[in-house]
Amino acid sequence: MTIILNGKELALKITDDIKISTAEYSDKPKLAVISAGENPASLIYIKNKQKKASELGFESFVINLPNNVSEDNLLENIFILNEDKNINAILVQLPLPEHINKQRVLDAIEPVKDVDGFTSFNFGRLALGYKPYAYPCTPKGILRLLTEYNINLEGKNVTVIGRSNIVGKPLSLMLQMKNATVTLAHSKTQNLKEHCLNSDIIISAAGVENLIRADFVRDNTVLVDVAINRTSSGLKGDVDFINVSPKCSYITPVPGGVGPMTIAMLMENTLELFKLQKSLFL
Ligand code: NAP
Repeated sequence: MTIILNGKELALKITDDIKISTAEYSDKPKLAVISAGENPASLIYIKNKQKKASELGFESFVINLPNNVSEDNLLENIFILNEDKNINAILVQLPLPEHINKQRVLDAIEPVKDVDGFTSFNFGRLALGYKPYAYPCTPKGILRLLTEYNINLEGKNVTVIGRSNIVGKPLSLMLQMKNATVTLAHSKTQNLKEHCLNSDIIISAAGVENLIRADFVRDNTVLVDVAINRTSSGLKGDVDFINVSPKCSYITPVPGGVGPMTIAMLMENTLELFKLQKSLFL
């Protein structure tokens, strides 16, 4: 029997708890989002994040800069938010325009307000095996989903497909910390199918529709599909869901799997940074 890893349901449970915790404070967690340009997918993501923040009783606002914004201007905006004691969490919406040095901008965020965990400080701590101020939201959401369904990682062979700084790379580090044996695959990986067939758990974040087909998966595999591919028939992941799911013990749907968990973790990180700053500054 295949069990659906219902990220939508778990995310609602988590955000309900966040709403209750937030109501205990007279002041509210405050999230600032900075974006540059008019990337249509980014605009949708930002709207969804703001909507969820407001549902939970957070304050949030967006600084929308033009596509031709200078790097210095972007940095200036971050420095102002760093100094503002009322702002608890800063998120730079990616991707940034090509002329901007992305990591230089991310590194300008005060680590204690780095809600995505993308600064070199927080990412470096994660790589060294120490707790960052915030864990990257998508990997954190995936681990939370696996934990909720009591899926043990210790000693398991896990193939992560995709090595980006926002998903695959931090996820591979976090899985190792849970004592999984991790293969980090990418576009130059040879014999992806063999790696997948050798895996207890496959987590795919390539952004390639139908990359994972039924012959890539052995019986009882746990499959997490992170990808969001916009196709003429709607949102699809990397997995050929209809043919692959019967072979899996657990599988995430797209949509309704990892996506809602990512937003829930962003809200959780915002609340955690808010609480942490209270303990540091008050
Ligand atoms: P990305 O930066 O484009 O990285 C894609 C990764 O996949 C790269 O490492 C790339 O390899 C690898 N790859 C591409 N084609 C491959 C192939 N045929 N075989 C094996 N590996 C391949 O993307 P990203 O930002 O990590 O996002 C990945 C996907 O997850 C996208 O669909 C995105 O929309 C989705 N996403 C979803 C959420 C969520 O909350 N659900 C959050 C973030 C991202 P190279 O390094 O060699 O180029």
